[in-house]
Amino acid sequence: MKPELSVVIPVYNEEAGLAKLFARLYPALDKLGLPYEVVFVNDGSRDSSAAILADQFRARPDVTRVVLFNGNYGQHMAILAGFKATRGEIVVTLDADLQNPPEEIGNLIAKMREGYDYVGSIRRERQDSAWRTHASKAMNRLRENITHIKMTDQGNMLRAYGRNVIDLVNQCNEVNTFIPALAYTFSRKPTEIVVEHEERAAGESKYSLYSLIRLNFDLVTGFSLMPLQFFSILGIGLSFVSAALFVVLLLRRFLFGSEVEGVFTLFAIAFFLMGVILFGIGLVGEYVGRIYQQVRGRPRFVVQAILEQSADTTMKELQ
Ligand code: UDP
Ligand code: MG
Repeated sequence: MKPELSVVIPVYNEEAGLAKLFARLYPALDKLGLPYEVVFVNDGSRDSSAAILADQFRARPDVTRVVLFNGNYGQHMAILAGFKATRGEIVVTLDADLQNPPEEIGNLIAKMREGYDYVGSIRRERQDSAWRTHASKAMNRLRENITHIKMTDQGNMLRAYGRNVIDLVNQCNEVNTFIPALAYTFSRKPTEIVVEHEERAAGESKYSLYSLIRLNFDLVTGFSLMPLQFFSILGIGLSFVSAALFVVLLLRRFLFGSEVEGVFTLFAIAFFLMGVILFGIGLVGEYVGRIYQQVRGRPRFVVQAILEQSADTTMKELQ
C-alpha cells in the first residue's frame, strides 16, 4: 500500500542513539493511524549504524526502508537521496539524534492538512551550545536580508513538505545545497509552527566549525548573488572615496608644499583595504568553486544498496 507519510532520517555515526530513536519514533508514527514509511539514509557511518539500521529493517520491513551510501556525503545529500526513495504525499525530515521529538510529527501533519505544502518549524528553546545558538541567529538574520527566503529558524530540520515540493526538489541536481531553503523556493503556501527541541540523546554533534561554515556558505551562495553585488558596490564606493582623497592631497600639495606625515595611517588604510580585497577574492572563489563542482558533474552521492521490501524490486541485503 502506498504510504501517506514518509519520514526521512539521515544517519551518520549514530549507533549510540538509534535504539532510543526507534523506541520513540515507531510508537509515535503508529499512533497517527495512517499508512507511513520511514526512510533511513546511512551517510557512510564508520560505526555500527548500518548494521543497526539493517536489523531495524528486518524487525519492521513493512514500514522501513534503508538507503546505504558508500561514503560520507553530508546530511543534505543524505536527505536528497531519502527524498528520491519516498512515496508519501507528505514527507517529514527529522534528525536521528532525537533533538527533534518524533511526537511533533503529528502537529506538522495537522498543519499540512490545513492546506499548506511546507511546514517549517521554530525551536521553542534551542538545546545547543550558546555560541552555536548565537552564530546561527546571526546567520539567520543575514540570510533573511540577502535572500527571498522567509524562515524564522533555518537550522531546524524537523519539517514537512508536500509531494509537489518534493517532486521539484528531486528534479534539482545541485551539488551543494540547503534543503529547507531549496524546498521553500518551490512551496506555494509555506508556514511555520513552534516545536520542542531536546538535547542530543547520545553521541555528539557531527558538525565541526569548518563544516558549519561550509554549510552556511552553501546557503548564502546557493540562494543569493547579493554578496557579489555588495562587493561591486563597495568597489565603486571606494573608488569615489580614493578619487576624492587624491584631489584633497593634490590641493594640499599646492597649498602647503610636500608633506610626509601620516605614513602609518596610510599603512593602516592599505592593510584594511587589502583585507577587503582578499575577502572579496575568497568570496568569488566560493562561487567559482561551487560552479566547478557543478560543471564537473560527478555523482553527488553513491548508493551502495537499498533495503526495502517489495515484490518487483530486488531486495539487496548487507554483505
Ligand atoms: N548527519 C549526516 N551526515 C553528516 C552529518 C550529520 O547524515 O555528515 C546527520 C546526523 O546523523 C543527524 C543529522 O544529520 O541525524 C544532524 O546532525 P547533528 O545532530 O550532528 O547536527 P546538529 O544537530 O549538531 O546541527
Ligand atoms: Mg543534532
